[in-house]
Amino acid sequence: MRRVACPGSFDPVTNGHLDIIRRAARLHDEVLVVVGANLAKEGLFTVEERLGMLREVTSDLPNVGVDKFTGLLVDFCRDRGVSAIVKGLRAVSDFDYEMQMAQMNYNQAGVETLFMTTNPLYAFLSSSLVKEFARHGGDVAGLVPMPVLDRLTARLRDS
Ligand code: ADP
Repeated sequence: MRRVACPGSFDPVTNGHLDIIRRAARLHDEVLVVVGANLAKEGLFTVEERLGMLREVTSDLPNVGVDKFTGLLVDFCRDRGVSAIVKGLRAVSDFDYEMQMAQMNYNQAGVETLFMTTNPLYAFLSSSLVKEFARHGGDVAGLVPMPVLDRLTARLRDS
């Protein structure tokens, strides 16, 4: 059985993330979407809220699980029998950092990284841009799943 991980901060999950998760789920036996809890200090949503939204928007995908990790992703992979990390690549600007990280993870633990190219519909999309536009009244419906849009609107209204 081949289990892969899709790691990220997912603050919040966008349609770009979801596209990669769905496509990864078609290619592998099991996909674990994992929120990096140590990257979450400055987030708009708590780690538990991010996990809740991820669970909701992946509930129709039977081979997708949601979890969090602290410390090194490669330690999580070793503990959970994850053989590869799947990452989405949006633009050349993602490439340098992602390649370095992939090589470090292989060097440290022999964990492979597989890159999937973004759906061009979502190539411009990041959680931080969604938050910035939503905060200033931009229309982000169509960029995030509906349950996320509702929570984003509520959170920004209350903050
Ligand atoms: P963000 O940059 O949106 O805050 P994360 O740190 O949560 O994203 O990213 C997790 C993973 O999802 C990374 O591999 C990132 O490249 C990928 N990803 C993020 N947005 C997209 C997108 N629009 N299309 C494809 N992959 C994406």
